[in-house]
Order: sequence, then structure tokens, then C-alpha cells
Amino acid sequence: MSIVDDIPDAIKTVPKAAVERDLGKEVESRRTFAIISHPDAGKTTLTEKLLYYGGAIQEAGAVRARRGAKSATSDWMEMEKQRGISISSTALSFAYKNFTLNLLDTPGHADFSEDTYRTVSAADNAVMLIDSAKGLEPQTRKLFEVCRLNGLPIFTFCNKMDRPALEPLELLDQIESEFNLPTYAVNWPIGSGDTFKGVYHRPRREVHLFNAEAKDGKAKKGEDKSTKGLEVLSVDDEKLESLIGAELHAQLMEDIELLDELGGELDLQAVHDGELTPVFFGSGMNNFGVQLFLDSFLGYSVRPRGRDLLGGDRVEPTDEGFTGFVFKLQANMDPRHRDKVAFVRVVSGRFERGMRVTNARTKKAVLLSRPSQMFGQDKTVLDEGFAGDVIGLNNPGSFAIGDTLYMGSRKVLPPIPTFSPELFAYLRNSDTGKYKQFQKGVQELLGEGAVQVMYSRDAVKQDPILAAVGQLQFEVVQARMLAEYGVETTLEPLPFAVARWVVGGWDAIDAAGRIFNAQCVKDIWGQPVLLFKNQWNVDQIVADTPEIGELSPFSIP
Ligand code: GDP
Repeated sequence: MSIVDDIPDAIKTVPKAAVERDLGKEVESRRTFAIISHPDAGKTTLTEKLLYYGGAIQEAGAVRARRGAKSATSDWMEMEKQRGISISSTALSFAYKNFTLNLLDTPGHADFSEDTYRTVSAADNAVMLIDSAKGLEPQTRKLFEVCRLNGLPIFTFCNKMDRPALEPLELLDQIESEFNLPTYAVNWPIGSGDTFKGVYHRPRREVHLFNAEAKDGKAKKGEDKSTKGLEVLSVDDEKLESLIGAELHAQLMEDIELLDELGGELDLQAVHDGELTPVFFGSGMNNFGVQLFLDSFLGYSVRPRGRDLLGGDRVEPTDEGFTGFVFKLQANMDPRHRDKVAFVRVVSGRFERGMRVTNARTKKAVLLSRPSQMFGQDKTVLDEGFAGDVIGLNNPGSFAIGDTLYMGSRKVLPPIPTFSPELFAYLRNSDTGKYKQFQKGVQELLGEGAVQVMYSRDAVKQDPILAAVGQLQFEVVQARMLAEYGVETTLEPLPFAVARWVVGGWDAIDAAGRIFNAQCVKDIWGQPVLLFKNQWNVDQIVADTPEIGELSPFSIP
């Protein structure tokens, strides 16, 4: 495939037959993506800049609550208010050129939770944001694994080039060697930190100059400093050498030669298959390279994908009948109403508020009604949606994580896998008189996916082991057990940090005999899971106990 740099005209690229049907147009013009990064890499800043390029037309949830600014719209749990963080994964939708972009927010920091993983599962593309001074960091690694499991195309943006950065080749090498993911630099930085002069954009053989003096980080909507005035010139322009200095110019010429030797053309199919990542350099804070990135992203990214169904069939985004799945439940956004909001990713067809669909799990008809007062302003509630969109629904109790909703013939999408938790603790009921409430609370919170729950193998009436990827999940469970079920609980932390599902099931466990340095528990599907203190102990078992067979970091429902 050749380099596709210009944004495909949303309409022109659709086969003729599809143009006649609105659905094809809608799907072709949508891009749904998540930004994966480690805290402080600049995700919030980049998100803000992306929004400059399109009017935010819909904001589901409280992104703005994150920085401690009090959210005017949601009256969510006391805990969230106190901390000024957003517990929810949210969807931000904006229009740019002929496209509708859905940016799924992946909570990080202290609010990192399984919702973060599930949100990535609801995206079609991922933007991997890297702090160029730091390279790959732990949270980037974890989220990368989720992207890989979901087969998402990954676009890399190396941020903060205005600060001293690792060598660009070093950054590419980290991605290639650690993730076993080949890279293709779409643009290339000229210097970094104080000497940062801009980027060379390979497809157009242009140099986009960075003007540090002009920076204010507050470009007006639709404006990218890199494309103003004389700041863009051909790499063959005679003026270039005097503008960036002889040394950087010589270096750039050398780099270009090297890059061209490494690979001349971007293999778009490999990008779509998640086997090659296009790489960009820039500075979110200075709004430099952001529009360049966005334009290329539109050209290279995939439209909403079809999905395989359980039982062998497949659903395509342009299929007429509505299909969607619940990837997140958020409870008690308004404690007075005990609201539960289900976030649904549309997979096919057209969503319309008030329509009646079937929930594949319960086999019951549900009315897709709007969440009451969820976002404060009615205009922020979607009344229509197509594949790639995220809609918020109320209907307390009708939904669980992973539920497929459909119209027409029965369709069931595969469950959203759960990922290895890293924190484990017994949840103890402090008030034995409230055994029933305790059990009910655990079951309901589990159904909502607030936390994973595991039990000892032969446990009868035993306290559950809560398993989470972030500490906040535990705190949410305890706070809600008290507020909603009137049960005081205590947590007894367990010294484990890694969970591995045993692919061979209980037969493999029995064949392995005594297992050292691990505790065997069962998940909610009754499958065996081994809990380890560290990765070293996992490797040890794999080496010493071949009978155990394959161990998986993902659940096997
Ligand atoms: P998040 O935690 O990933 O959402 O990161 P933020 O967007 O909050 O950014 C973390 C810090 O990095 C803030 O102080 C930002 O101002 C700063 N930052 C973000 N982008 C850039 C950049 O391009 N250059 C520099 N120098 N700082 C940046």
C-alpha cells in the first residue's frame, strides 16, 4: 500500500451502493479512539488541543472534573468530589473536517481501574502518547497489551519535544524491541528541548518549523501554528539550512537518508492489523504537530470495525439492525436518584432514543431511554447514534458489563475479557448480622464490574477475595457497601500482585500437584486462577511445573 497522507473525503471513499444508504456515510466518517499513556505524559493537554480543531459536540461525563475543578454537571459520589477526580470513563465526541471523532477517555492516575481496560476494548484505534524524555512507562505497557489483545491499530505520538528528549531512534527502538511492534516514522524531529526546530513530515517532504517565541499553548480553534506563514517549507528549500542551522541541517539530511533506507512506504494494511505503528513527534502543550498528527490519523485510522459474534457469525457496522454492547456501568451519579448509567458502544445500525432492543443475556426487551439529568444539559445527550458512537442509558438493573443489545435476529458479542488484577484483598463483613446484605452487595457490585471477585477453590460461605487493577476500585466498593447496603466492611490485603488463568482448567491444576509460591482460587466462572507475588514466581512455575500448561493474563470465560 502506498502512503495515504491526504484525508480521504469521507463520502468519496464509500462504495457507491453505501453512499445511497446513510449508514455507510455515517460509518465511514467516524473514528473512535482512545489515548493510552502513563500519567503526566500530556493526555489532558493533547485532548484539549484536539478539541480546538473541532467543536466539542457532545461530552458524556465529567472530564473537566479531573483537575479538581468542581464539576457543575454531575453530583457524583462524595469521594469523587473530595478528590476532584473523575471515576468514570467518558466519551468525548467532536467534529473535524468531514469526520465525527469519538475520543474515549481512559482514566489514569489514582482512578485507574478496570474501566480503563474496558474502554480500550470499546475503541477501534489507539493513540499511544509517550513522554519523549521518559520513553515507555508502566501504564503505557499495560494499556498496550489491552490494545494488542483487541487487535487495535496503534498510533504513536512522542510528546514534549520542546523539552530535552531521548534520541528519536531510541524511542523507536524501545517500541520495537519491548512491544515487538515495528514502527514507521511519519514525521521526524529536528533537535529537541532548547534546540527543537520542528519536524520533517515525510509524506509531503515538508519541514514544519517550531517557533518557540510564538508559543502560547492557546491556539485558536482550527489554528495550527505549524502551518502559518513561512513556517512550512520544502525540505529542499535553500532557506532551510539558515533557518535551522548547519549542524541540525546536516543531521536531518543524514536522518532522512537513514529513514528512507529503513523503509520507504507505510504499509497501511499492517497499521490496520496492529502490526505497525506510525510515529509522530510534537508538543501538545505548544500545539505543535497536533494538527499534522490529526490529519494523518484520519487518513490512516480505521472506521468502526465489525465484530465476530459468538457462534461464528459476524456483525458489520453497516448492518441495518442495531447492535451494541455495554462496556461500562456507572452508578449513583446522582445519589438522590440512585441512577445507574450504562455506556453502550454502538456496533451496527442506527441507535435512536426510545427504541426497543433485546438484551441477549436476559433475553428481555429493553427500552433505550436517556439517562435522567446525567450531563446537566439535555443537548449533551445523544438522540441518534451510529457504529462507533457511545451512548449513555439509564434503566437501572437492566444491564451488566458486556451485555449485547440488538434488534432483529439474536446476536451475542463475546464477553469483554478481564485483565490480570494487581491488588487483592479479602473483603470482610464487620457486622455478621448483615450477612444477606453483604452477599447481595458483593453480587451486585460484581455484576456491575466494579471489581473482580474470586473465591477459594472449595469455599462455602467464605469471604470473597476482591481483585482490582487500581486501589480506587476497593474504596468504591467499600463506600458503596456502606452507602447502599448499610454494611460496614474491612479489607484485608493479600500479598499478591499477579493473576494467571490456568488455560488447562482444573485438570491441569490437579496434574500439577502441589504448587509452591502461588495460591489457587476460582473466578466467577469457576475457572482456576493462580495468584502470585510477582512475575518471577510465575516464570518459576512455568519452568518447574510443565504439567500446569499455559497460563493466561486474561480471563477465559
Ligand atoms: P496527563 O496526566 O497525561 O493528562 O498529563 P497533562 O496533560 O496533565 O500534562 C502533564 C504535565 O506535562 C503538565 O504540567 C503539562 O503542562 C505538561 N505538558 C503536556 N504537554 C507538554 C509538552 O508538549 N511540553 C511540555 N514541556 N510540557 C507538556
